[in-house]
Amino acid sequence: MSGRRVLTLVAPISGIVVPLDQVPDPVFAQRLAGDGVSIDPLSDQVVAPCDAEVRQVHRAGHAVTLDALGLEIVIHVGLDTVQLKGEGFQPLAKAGDRVRAGDPLLRFDADVVARRARSLLTEVVITNMDRVAALRPRSGTVVAGRDVLLEIELAAPAGAPEARSGEAVTTPPIVVASRTGLHARPAAMLAATARRFSSDLRLVKDGREANARSVVSIMALEVGGGDTVTVVARGADAAAAAAAVTETLATDLDATPADGADSAAATRPAAASSAGPAAAHRGAPAAAGVLRGVAASPGVAVGRVFHVRHDDAVVEERGADPEQEQRALDAAIAAAHLQLEALQQRLAVEADADRAAIFGAHQELLEDPEVLERAAAHVRSGASAAHAWRQAYTSQAERLQGLDNALLRGRATDLRDIGRRVMHLLVGGDAPLEVPPESIVVAEDLTPSDTASLDRTRVRGLCTTMGSATSHVAILARGLGIPAVAGVDPRVLDIAPGTRVILDGDRGTLDPSPSAADEARVAERQGADERRQRGELAVAMEPATTRDGHRVEVVANIGAVKEAERVPAVGGEGVGLLRTEFLFMDRRTAPDEDEQTRSYEAIARALGPDRILVIRTLDVGGDKPIPYLSLAAEANPFLGERGVRLTLARPELFRAQVRAILRASAAGKVAMMFPMIATLAEWRAARELVERERLALGVPPIPVGIMVETAAAALIADRFAREADFFSIGTNDLTQYTLAMDRTNPRLAPQVDALHPAVLRLIERTVAGARAHKRWVGVCGALAGDPQAVPVLLGLGVGELSTDIPLVPAVKARVRSLSLAECQATAREALDAGDGAEVRAIVARRHG
Ligand code: PEP
Ligand code: MG
Repeated sequence: MSGRRVLTLVAPISGIVVPLDQVPDPVFAQRLAGDGVSIDPLSDQVVAPCDAEVRQVHRAGHAVTLDALGLEIVIHVGLDTVQLKGEGFQPLAKAGDRVRAGDPLLRFDADVVARRARSLLTEVVITNMDRVAALRPRSGTVVAGRDVLLEIELAAPAGAPEARSGEAVTTPPIVVASRTGLHARPAAMLAATARRFSSDLRLVKDGREANARSVVSIMALEVGGGDTVTVVARGADAAAAAAAVTETLATDLDATPADGADSAAATRPAAASSAGPAAAHRGAPAAAGVLRGVAASPGVAVGRVFHVRHDDAVVEERGADPEQEQRALDAAIAAAHLQLEALQQRLAVEADADRAAIFGAHQELLEDPEVLERAAAHVRSGASAAHAWRQAYTSQAERLQGLDNALLRGRATDLRDIGRRVMHLLVGGDAPLEVPPESIVVAEDLTPSDTASLDRTRVRGLCTTMGSATSHVAILARGLGIPAVAGVDPRVLDIAPGTRVILDGDRGTLDPSPSAADEARVAERQGADERRQRGELAVAMEPATTRDGHRVEVVANIGAVKEAERVPAVGGEGVGLLRTEFLFMDRRTAPDEDEQTRSYEAIARALGPDRILVIRTLDVGGDKPIPYLSLAAEANPFLGERGVRLTLARPELFRAQVRAILRASAAGKVAMMFPMIATLAEWRAARELVERERLALGVPPIPVGIMVETAAAALIADRFAREADFFSIGTNDLTQYTLAMDRTNPRLAPQVDALHPAVLRLIERTVAGARAHKRWVGVCGALAGDPQAVPVLLGLGVGELSTDIPLVPAVKARVRSLSLAECQATAREALDAGDGAEVRAIVARRHG
């Protein structure tokens, strides 16, 4: 034979070819299932890519395995589609069928699947890559049954005997090569190997057996390094499966290049803080040094570390409807996957391979069929999603905990950790937190209700490894006047509880081992801050008028009734932004029209008849977990269905809120605005709904405006100004969209500066558009509370600054120190600057 044999696969579905490593699922991206390509589909029928025999049609109808020339080809439609349990899929072939290239294999309802699954990306992978010498994928757009997708150069036959279909294969005894036995990482790798095959695979040790696809089951078998096991495989690809698992078992799975001698230590879970202070942690560099994050709420604090985790939440035992509960659980698990993915990516960039591997192992646990099936069984028997999940993961964790092997017992911590992550996503912090006095609260993330339920008198500071200066925990911390650091180095999770630390919310740092001199300096700074704040508060009731007589409204951002009560006391002239999403978070169902009406009325009354209350309609989206809204996980949540896009797509939810706002408008000086407006069509659809409901209720009109958070809205502000009553500029979002920098990404946080001249030019443009139609413009993003930004915003013509409650007196004081004419000159210079740092230098030079 002159050359190797080549098998050509045509596209099984029409669409755009996507490299496998761009698939947002580690099983495919890391080629755990095999190698191949993915297609972003433009059709809804899967056809055979070559002449083949159908080996298996997955029970859930979403995947087909073919055999062609001894190659096993899996076509997998969508991500997480197994969870649809067949809904939306129609198999058109069955196991044993012989098909020709182009013959139909399955059809799916793209609408149903797209709505319910994470993605429609369809993978075509070769699972037995040992039979492949080279893969040559095509790129671009392909048409099903016509265009070549992959050329596969076959390797010389392995010569191993192939099992007949359905035959059971039992291997000879295999000595486990991994020195530390089958703990989490080796177990995860073994399960990944097993899952490449359709056969049922069991590991047998001393008469006990484990499902080789299940990480937990493998770990529960307590296989130590050097132990002997056998593999029993049953099914169509039994021989190949047994061979692959044997090979994996015979490989030292601990021997990754990153490992030192102590590979067991390398797999310690990130959150196992009982391990001791950071200094003792894996010899990590700079463990004794200052940990860096992002300044999220101003102030400095000394206190003792208190870790917040979510295993004790009080949850309802019984669920509403099993289907709904399962959907909520699936959504929480999908969201946990995304979080872990993000963490891994970040740690990979930080070259922390060990910790990235731990989160990889967590993802495997999240897919563990035994845990998932147990939870699903509880849900089917009527349990709530949270209760079912907790039962499933704690019982499995207890099983591991009861084992003799200390290393395996440690894996129970991994399972609890991932279990808590999902619990957190399901119920948030429903349980009140018992925080000891003088605490610096440390967590991966905190829900709004965690933050709200904290006893302010005991909490000195907040520190999270997720989030950024404009994430919701930062917003809440500023509202409460608690110093906070977000996006901090995850090693903070390893600091022993009770350790005395300094948290610096101005610099965005946490010092895990401060000296007495450091603490004395903090005390001095706190004293100076307090004296300044007392001075500002003493004159907070005075208006904010510049030295040359220009009056600026200074109002507050709030998220709850309790906060509204604090606004008048700090001199707040109203509320420029009520973030209504906080009323919807951390609960099991949406507040209905009556409940919302009561909340909005209470807020309006707390402000009194003369203070404005601008109520923003619901601003949630793919990035904020509200399980009962069953938000589909999106690859780019900030560019997805969020804000007004979401409420327009859920008219009943939107209608109830709009009616509640209109009904409450009699209780005060109420205005309404919509978040995330990008098009006139969105604005008009929302505005029309308001008008319809207003006429139905028979209430007088109220001002209705938009948030300017997209470049689109800013650039055609003059067009919006013909119809909208006012603009409120959301600089947090406007900045992230203008700079194309995710506002929640701690690595980008230092560069996401809203004083970037590009953002300032959009603000200038917004003001010009508004002026042409005599509309007012406010700023309600975090920029409004930034002392360096105040002169620039005034100079650009912004008339209202809406900021966090504790900052109101300081912003008023800043306004009084300025002259409008000077601010206008500052703004002109700032618009011409090259970046945010240059703008800050200009302000520092001109205004101190
Ligand atoms: C903003 O984007 O600036 C804003 C105020 O809205 P949020 O921070 O709630 O997204
Ligand atoms: Mg916003």
